Amino acid sequence: MSQGSGARRIGILGGTFDPVHIGHLRGALEVAEMFDLDELRLIPNARPPHRDTPNCSAQDRLAMVRLAVQALPPLCVDARELEREKPSYTIDTLISLRAELGEEDQLLLVVGWDAFCGLPTWHRWEELLDYCHILVLQRPDAGSEAPQVLRDLLAARSVPDPQVLCGGSGQIAFVWQTPLEVSATQIRQLLASGKSVRFLVPDAVLAYINAHGLYRASN
Ligand code: ATP
Repeated sequence: MSQGSGARRIGILGGTFDPVHIGHLRGALEVAEMFDLDELRLIPNARPPHRDTPNCSAQDRLAMVRLAVQALPPLCVDARELEREKPSYTIDTLISLRAELGEEDQLLLVVGWDAFCGLPTWHRWEELLDYCHILVLQRPDAGSEAPQVLRDLLAARSVPDPQVLCGGSGQIAFVWQTPLEVSATQIRQLLASGKSVRFLVPDAVLAYINAHGLYRASN
């Protein structure tokens, strides 16, 4: 246990995972070890309507995440966003998770830097820190820049040392992870052009992609 008597520390990493890759997994594993997490849940989201739809179903994305984390505790899968009949709002996920946790349990929302920069577009984003701490993963994509409203939030809520996050929610910390410049977009493009994605995804995920003919060009 990481906290006081009996309190737990749960990390969550949401994503489209289309497909899950080593950038997600290495980040999740490093955060889990760094913070001695009891669980790090990967939470596949229902595909937002504005995203491309490269013929991979929610069921396939979930199956690949399950394969990726099998026998890799404390990493595990939480399928609640795919079971809901409405868009995947992180705030709803946090509220439902909080209802299952004790008051002293820490909930750590893990987001890559690019995702963090888009935070002000998230539904009810200003309430997120009422339910969790946010851990921002450095991601090697210098393209994203935090808007002023986020810089103000960072000034008010960030802590220099992620190990001293206190209480169950409310703070932001940056964490360093081994930089891996890999994205699901790149993996889909490689597959569509008939190239190998070996070593960019776990072998079990690659076997699933091949067995189901995912992400291939249609002709
Ligand atoms: P796509 O290329 O389809 O946009 P993606 O590779 O960014 O996908 P997502 O499923 O959208 O993957 O990402 C889920 C979360 O994981 C986000 O918070 C994202 O910032 C983070 N993430 C994805 N890839 C990396 C990486 N290589 N290093 C660190 N964080 C990552």
